[in-house]
Amino acid sequence: MPFNDANAPSPLGLTAHEFARAHARIPGGAADAYRRLFRDGDATALPGLTLPEPARVQRSQSPEGEVVKFVLRVPPNLETESVLIPMVGRTRGRTYTLCVSSQVGCAMGCTFCETAQMGLLRSLTPAEIVAQWFAATHHLRLRPKNIVFMGMGEPLDNLAGVLAAIRALTDHLGAAHPMSRIVVSTVGRLDGLARLAAQVREPGWHRLGLAVSINAPNDQIRSRIMPINRAMPMAALREALLAWPIFGAAKICLEYVLIPGVNDATEHARELASWARPLPACINVIPYNPRRDSPWPAPDEASVDHFLGDLVAAGAYCKRRRTKGREMMGACGQLGNPQLRRPRLVRLGAPASSP
Ligand code: SAH
Repeated sequence: MPFNDANAPSPLGLTAHEFARAHARIPGGAADAYRRLFRDGDATALPGLTLPEPARVQRSQSPEGEVVKFVLRVPPNLETESVLIPMVGRTRGRTYTLCVSSQVGCAMGCTFCETAQMGLLRSLTPAEIVAQWFAATHHLRLRPKNIVFMGMGEPLDNLAGVLAAIRALTDHLGAAHPMSRIVVSTVGRLDGLARLAAQVREPGWHRLGLAVSINAPNDQIRSRIMPINRAMPMAALREALLAWPIFGAAKICLEYVLIPGVNDATEHARELASWARPLPACINVIPYNPRRDSPWPAPDEASVDHFLGDLVAAGAYCKRRRTKGREMMGACGQLGNPQLRRPRLVRLGAPASSP
């Protein structure tokens, strides 16, 4: 019996309960088959189920260990990209953070991001999202400590798929990944944030992490580099973040991609700090990783330090994200396959396109 078609959806995208309801007659019991699949990568009780296997794996060294980027094929002839990022903790043990994709491509159109150059090809199913965790854990044998939705795609544009994937990943009867070790990163769509906030108020969801890509100190700059800002400006975004349910000492992560000559001036740091002041948040400064055909260079060390110093001086709580995987286009904002770009409409007769 095949498990990965429409009649019998793959168990990877289901909770143990949902799976048992759909497959009550598995010999030995659906719950047992589910547990063995997620815990041990063992699918012997599930004949016909194709286990996720990377089509390509690339590795590169970083000071904290090997960064591993891998690709899974998904129909029709598309690919997901995921990255395993090593981290050395205070106790010196090495752990991995898995950066997963929620879509193939993205519709948000941020000008600094490689994925945006592809356009949106499609959203991933819950099973295709969880398959990335499965391949990391059972194929590459690097069980991630953290899962971050910071790969290709805008998670709030595939909210139902992302929520179902998180339900499967956190199911105690299977993968049992802690909710507190999952972060959803978004451009900050207000409708999606409100829906996600409602979910986070539910039992079991309080500790889900939120990261929001701010990337600019004011509307003028943000609208230029993030088209979403034209419809949903920073004041409205801040209102939505003030309404975000915070449990315990959790903080919202504000991501800020530092792009030379665009958003890296001292004045920008001050403006950003004052915008962020009312929020229970930490500003995460990410040195810009050049996308293909980038009009901007990466910032140098000194200017990253300088910007962080400016933020601290302005009273902001901030951190720096260490760059890993840039050599293989595996760092933040570099995922995307130029061969898979969505065909662009060519306007006939437009002066720029005439021969
Ligand atoms: N769509 C979601 C998740 C994907 S992007 C979002 O926007 O949050 C994950 C993070 O990478 C975001 O904070 C984004 O701002 C950042 N990013 C995008 N392009 C980048 C680049 N070229 N260099 C560094 N970070 C980048």
